[in-house]
Amino acid sequence: MEQKQFQAESKRLLDMMIHSIYTHKEIFLRELISNASDAIDKLYFQSLTDDSMGMTKSDFGISITIDKNARTLTIADNGIGMTREELEKHLGTIAESGSLQFKKDNSLSDDNQIIGQFGVGFYSAFMVAKKVTVKSLAFGETQGYVWESEGVDGYTIDTCDKNSVGTEIILELLDDVEPSEDGDGGENYSEYLDQYRIQSLVKCYSDYIRFPIRMDMTKSRKKEDSDEYEDYIENVMLNSMVPLWHKNKNEISEEEYNSFYKDKCDDYSDPLCHMHVRNEGMITYDALLYIPSHAPYNYYSKDYEKGLQLYTDGVLIMDRCEDLLPDYFSFIKGLVDSEDLSLNISREMLQHDAQLRQIARSIEKTIKNELKRMMKNDREKYEKFYQSFGLQLKYGVYQDYGMHKDVLQDLLLFSSSKDRKMTSLQEYIDRMPKGQESIYYAVGENIQRIELLPQIEQVKDKGYEILYFTDNVDEFAVKMLQDYQGKKFQSVLDSKLDLETEEEKKALEKKQEKSHDMLETMQKALEGKVGSVKLSGRLKSHPVCLSSEGDLSMDMAKTLNEMPGNEGEKAKAQMVLELNPEHEIYTKLMQLQENDSETLTEYAKLLYDQALLIAGMPIADPVAFSNQICKLM
Ligand code: ADP
Repeated sequence: MEQKQFQAESKRLLDMMIHSIYTHKEIFLRELISNASDAIDKLYFQSLTDDSMGMTKSDFGISITIDKNARTLTIADNGIGMTREELEKHLGTIAESGSLQFKKDNSLSDDNQIIGQFGVGFYSAFMVAKKVTVKSLAFGETQGYVWESEGVDGYTIDTCDKNSVGTEIILELLDDVEPSEDGDGGENYSEYLDQYRIQSLVKCYSDYIRFPIRMDMTKSRKKEDSDEYEDYIENVMLNSMVPLWHKNKNEISEEEYNSFYKDKCDDYSDPLCHMHVRNEGMITYDALLYIPSHAPYNYYSKDYEKGLQLYTDGVLIMDRCEDLLPDYFSFIKGLVDSEDLSLNISREMLQHDAQLRQIARSIEKTIKNELKRMMKNDREKYEKFYQSFGLQLKYGVYQDYGMHKDVLQDLLLFSSSKDRKMTSLQEYIDRMPKGQESIYYAVGENIQRIELLPQIEQVKDKGYEILYFTDNVDEFAVKMLQDYQGKKFQSVLDSKLDLETEEEKKALEKKQEKSHDMLETMQKALEGKVGSVKLSGRLKSHPVCLSSEGDLSMDMAKTLNEMPGNEGEKAKAQMVLELNPEHEIYTKLMQLQENDSETLTEYAKLLYDQALLIAGMPIADPVAFSNQICKLM
């Protein structure tokens, strides 16, 4: 029989599992039971819509068998089973290709984190087993197949005798490892041959599984009319089968909520928080919603798929119902169960289903309120959330022409010049001194660079707080908002900031007139680069700065031009080169206008390049710039 190789990524993942130092290896059981339950879900759902199968819910179940002599633990289900092709496809390759590559690029070397980023369920068996055998007969087939692997070397697939539909997974456990002399290390795999240990693991991690999980347990009882004890075997149901979301909140421990999340939502880390809602208004539904503690590796890519599981009365009808979540809350994981929905509802019908839309609206409100509550009562947690998903909220403001801005504007946070902390717009407004009419912001690559911008000084001197925009989407988002509580958003990089007093303005105007010829020469020199060159009252220590006029800022133009598919005509901001009339350079420029307009032209270009650099923009010809400087030196 041919030994087949795992697909390269699966092999690496498998290798990681085998050498895992993860301390909760026991979760392999939860993963396998969860797979078994999913497989039963699929067949059970078919049986509900196909009477000819003649099966009812009580016919389905999972069984666990311990064989101490053979050192095997077997998990069997009578679910949908796998064909030969499915064994090959599901157990030989990982669906999300590229994901390991991503991890490598981001040099996350922590096992737990890596493992947590995929649905690696099945492979976790290799954390405890030296050999894994999977026997399966798919529904509708007559021939069973066996898949076998001892780890990274590969796997084999062959025919086998199996006459009942379903899957059997046999784990041959690893040998125990003695701890070293100082008590370090050591692994006890034999614990998974202990029926009580298995019982408690099922209770702990898989209690809510909605099909019975049974195991033969050896028990002891006193013989009748004798003091002696005898062993007997009892087939015990290990789980309570009540779906977690149907239990009362006060009966569910945090641990149970978290374990359920990790099982259902393919995450290794605990969620940031959960929302368990029972709605009994116009439409009845239960929802169990989670906010992950970190963004999935592909969250901000096209590959990410949003959605919630959809159940009707405990039966899974759709694994990922997208229509239940708006894009800006796409990070939410979990499920909705509503008895009001029809079982036979199809994907197309769902989109137009009024009840589903009602549920979606109600869920949106729940999420929004939870986030608001968190922002108010647990700011630290909210900021952690915001670090992962704030970007998505900002995209949400911008999306659909600002249609959702009212839902989202109070959930936004920005860094600010006030202690460099995060602030909400409401908090900013509450701190505004008398006389401040606008909400000021500055755009830059990061906080440090923004604080170096020449335009910052004047605004800070006035005692005004500045929001620091470091994400590309920030400025687009506030353009969409236009104002917050009647206060307009104002970029400090805008040429019309208008913070000078009347006196200052008059003095500047005079100087401007006096400098008319010089400014004109410079403007000519910078034809096509800037719309105008003018004097500015806001610069203190810097000789020049660049600002923009009109709706499109420099940074917005830059972002637009960098977007894929925008290679054609470039977006262009209307630029203004501002000169500081109090700076020595100004005097020099005025002199040049009198006696050496050629050098003035050269200097204009040089100052323009300088201003670009300060603004964090690329200069067109760095070599020419460098040559110019050398010449001057
Ligand atoms: P996930 O469950 O996240 O998809 P797994 O690696 O645990 O990832 O499983 C891979 C696939 O193998 C499953 O999606 C399923 O199609 C199939 N599979 C695993 N276990 C079973 C089972 N007991 N019965 C039927 N199919 C199974």
